[in-house]
Amino acid sequence: MPNRRFADGEVVMGRWPGSVLYYEVQVTSYDDVSHLYTVKYKDGTELALKESDIRSQSAFKHRKSQSSSSSPSRRSSSRSRSRSPGRPAKGRRRSSSQSREQKEDKKKTISETSLTPLALKPSENNTRRYNGEPDSTERNDTSFVMSEQKLKPDLEIARVLDQYSLRPRKEEKKKEEMYSEKKIFETKVIEKASLKTIEKAPSKTKELEFGGRIGTFTLIFFMPATVLYLLLMCKQDDPSLMNFPPPLPALESLWEARVFGIFLLWFFLQALFYLLPIGKVVEGLPLSDGRKLQYRINGFYAFVLTAAAIGTLLYFQFELHYLYDHFLQFAVSAAAFSMVLSIYLYIRSLKAPEEELAPSGNSGYFVYDFFTGHELNPRIGSFDLKYFCELRPGLIGWVVINLAMLLAEMKIHNQSMPSLSMILVNSFQLLYVVDALWNEEAVLTTMDITHDGFGFMLAFGDLVWVPFVYSLQAFYLVGHPTAISWPIAVAITLLNGIGYYIFRSANSQKNSFRRNPADPKLAYLKSIPTATGKGLLVTGWWGFVRHPNYLGDIIMALAWSLPCGFNHILPYFYVIYFICLLVHREARDEHHCKQKYGLAWERYCQRVPYRIFPYIY
Ligand code: NDP
Repeated sequence: MPNRRFADGEVVMGRWPGSVLYYEVQVTSYDDVSHLYTVKYKDGTELALKESDIRSQSAFKHRKSQSSSSSPSRRSSSRSRSRSPGRPAKGRRRSSSQSREQKEDKKKTISETSLTPLALKPSENNTRRYNGEPDSTERNDTSFVMSEQKLKPDLEIARVLDQYSLRPRKEEKKKEEMYSEKKIFETKVIEKASLKTIEKAPSKTKELEFGGRIGTFTLIFFMPATVLYLLLMCKQDDPSLMNFPPPLPALESLWEARVFGIFLLWFFLQALFYLLPIGKVVEGLPLSDGRKLQYRINGFYAFVLTAAAIGTLLYFQFELHYLYDHFLQFAVSAAAFSMVLSIYLYIRSLKAPEEELAPSGNSGYFVYDFFTGHELNPRIGSFDLKYFCELRPGLIGWVVINLAMLLAEMKIHNQSMPSLSMILVNSFQLLYVVDALWNEEAVLTTMDITHDGFGFMLAFGDLVWVPFVYSLQAFYLVGHPTAISWPIAVAITLLNGIGYYIFRSANSQKNSFRRNPADPKLAYLKSIPTATGKGLLVTGWWGFVRHPNYLGDIIMALAWSLPCGFNHILPYFYVIYFICLLVHREARDEHHCKQKYGLAWERYCQRVPYRIFPYIY
């Protein structure tokens, strides 16, 4: 028997989310898991409410009779001197009947603005429903971050001034405009709160991505097979596509306990660095239940400590090219580890509370949820497994592998200096990794952290794909030396610089805007408001294309492959794959943004028609 106070069909008073106002609602259902009531408002809007936001009608009526001024409609009508936003002033003086009529109109408009829940149609009752379109002209969205608490005293003051006509007449127009705006903001704040309330109800993943069950099942085998294929191809003297398939090594040669031991040592060393109490602790974005997880930002410190550890090993003559000699075995060890980790993640997710499951990995199909990740933020105590794997063992491992390749090249080819191509590849990718660690906080707003669960896709991606596939160019150069001239090197460096500039400035622009839309440094940028309270930038990089950061990333990816020359397509695998990845990722993000922002997103798309490549795509 569920432990609930209100029965289905019962008419009660429901608090409008984010406000102190209660309206008559009917209970339509109750969810035993989330303990939320679904209630229906008189205009048909349905919301999920907590029990603490519901009162019986008798309690409410009693209070109303004691003090009529505390009823919602009464409170609203006391604001009646303001004009509805769309109505122009006809003259300085008005007749008393006109004025009375207008007052009545205003009363109606204001009370409806505050009483109207989310689903009200724009045409009804002259009341404006905020639909994601800007109010009048676009602006920086400072105003939309105004909190309800901040808003209320202002409205209270405005009401008092209105009641006693303390404002000079010539200020009235200005005041009325401001007042109208505030009401619209209030509606938005309420809408925002109600959207959050709706999000609270846990739901099953209905739209399956990555080809659904069959697609994800295939990917679980296809991803490791691709890594194996690429590494085997790269080892060949002639890695052209004509030499496909490469000869397969003996199974027993793929595994070595010592290599696996070194991999584990590496993983746990990074875990130790992650646990060090250095670096600030920040909050992530709010979860669906309103909680915010805390994350320690010390990735850059981990990188510096790793550099010191590697430097010490080299000082004591440790031969880092061991990594090159056992590259395939390291990849197999990492793949085995990521598979075991994924199984662990799935098993533990079965016990996770419903609200901690990933919105994209809760389909109920084992294969799909195993691949995409069932639990959103699996943690052991305060140790966040996904966040840790996202930027540490794999990403830092990638530059260590690159360095090992550089040393292997020098040793194998008896060079006193690494080749220019190898220096370029190492430097470009080092810049990319250091940039990611330096701006570690930005990862907290990415889809990987906020939307995707932690399952095979991310575990394999972070621990195997990134370090072993992204280092393919350096691996290729060891076996296939490529000489490039200085002018070519300068041109490639310029290209990487352009890509990096676009990538960094686009990401920084968005991150700063998300952190503080009122930042004076962003005053030159324009944005359009959305119903969630967040704005969308429509000028600057985000007005150029809809994913300028992807454009910069792709330009850099090309610059990383060019030092390998044009003899083979293999070193271009990264840029080809990366374009596919980002085009697919862009489509996923687009889909989420459309759901989140509705009409405002459509308007943004009209204004910024190209997704990644200007005038092309
Ligand atoms: P993005 O940084 O591109 O963020 C997308 C989000 O930005 C949207 O969901 C939306 O979120 C917000 N947004 C979209 N348009 C606007 C706008 N006009 N104004 C303000 N906000 C907007 O997400 P990713 O996680 O995909 O990428 C992060 C970085 O990581 C990129 O630079 C990408 O290139 C890189 N990356 C690298 C990979 C690699 O393997 N090397 C793999 C994947 C990504 P909201 O409104 O909720 O804030």
